[in-house]
Amino acid sequence: MSITKGYAVQEATSPLAPFSFERREVRPHDVQIEILYCGVCHSDIHQVRGEWGNSIYPMVPGHEIVGRITAVGHHVKNFKVGDLAGVGCLVDSCRTCPSCEQGLEQFCDTGMVGTYNSIDKDGQLTYGGYSTQIVVDEKYTLKVSDKLLLAGVAPLLCAGITTYSPLRYVGVKKGDKVAVLGLGGLGHMAVKFAVAFGAEVTMLSSSPNKKEDALKLGAHHFALTSDESTMSSLASSFDYILNTVSAQHDYNTYLNLLRVNGTMIIVGVPPAATPVHAFPLIMKRRSIIGSLIGGIAETQEMLDFCAEHNIVSEVEVINMDYINEAYERMLKSDVRYRFVIDLASLK
Ligand code: NAP
Ligand code: ZN
Ligand code: ZN
Repeated sequence: MSITKGYAVQEATSPLAPFSFERREVRPHDVQIEILYCGVCHSDIHQVRGEWGNSIYPMVPGHEIVGRITAVGHHVKNFKVGDLAGVGCLVDSCRTCPSCEQGLEQFCDTGMVGTYNSIDKDGQLTYGGYSTQIVVDEKYTLKVSDKLLLAGVAPLLCAGITTYSPLRYVGVKKGDKVAVLGLGGLGHMAVKFAVAFGAEVTMLSSSPNKKEDALKLGAHHFALTSDESTMSSLASSFDYILNTVSAQHDYNTYLNLLRVNGTMIIVGVPPAATPVHAFPLIMKRRSIIGSLIGGIAETQEMLDFCAEHNIVSEVEVINMDYINEAYERMLKSDVRYRFVIDLASLK
């Protein structure tokens, strides 16, 4: 067992504060990673505050982890001490169900083991990346290129794969008209990937002051969602809408922006259910699908794609003790475009 420093919440209403806990010993298939950077995902806020009804406390959040390997178990084949490595949202799964066999570990029949807020196969509560080190089976550990700026790589482990995976699944290609709804951590990665796949990209945002950034990120158009005339001019115009919004909003309004056979992909998870009317769906045979992060093999594919195309997240690097303020800013949509914790500030 090794004592680890972290930041945790003790209950839904308490702030994040210093917390010390034990990580397991390195087993034959495990790697131990000194965490260098960890991104701050809006899912951290939802779970810290008990908004999804699945929270277990104390909770050490964080599932956008990059760091350096400091120890390897004696059966480890793919990593050695000193290598860069990444850990995303899942650290284990059953490994035998049809989803696991297809590399869709996130849909594991028995439930994936989340990097935090999850119970592992030993019955232990998992603790995430707002901490100095983590021990993970190498099968659930990703290879990280040394070509990219490391702080900007951390958010790829969740925001990156969560947007890459559904855009690949629906087969976004040159000429497709794609709208991204919500310009935050997920939204800015979605713009970068949709542009890289050749789509004509429109940013749909509730924040007028994000227009310039959206265009710099590569979006071809920017539309303010509160501007009714712009919104009606966009009726029936998109093949896909990738919906990343974290707060309550009306799906029906945006469904009407899809063409015949258009698809809205939901990745944002507002705390409560949203009613959907039949009309916007039946009128143009539109559909809604959801998507959850991505499997391990696809996460590696995404990281390799980013290294090849020089894609990283736009980050604001923060010290660990700034985390509560960072959450408040994210809740005001004031993030450009991912907070990333420098774990050197915790040592
Ligand atoms: P984020 O960085 O906070 O961005 C969310 C964006 O949503 C904001 O920047 C804002 O964009 C928009 N927004 C926020 N409140 C709004 C409101 N009241 N009305 C309209 N728009 C609003 O969050 P994130 O980390 O990207 O995460 C987004 C959502 O995805 C969260 O719910 C998170 O839990 C979920 N998530 C899902 C998965 C998955 O696997 N499906 C993975 C990771 C995260 P504008 O200022 O441009 O309007
Ligand atoms: Zn996340
Ligand atoms: Zn499984």
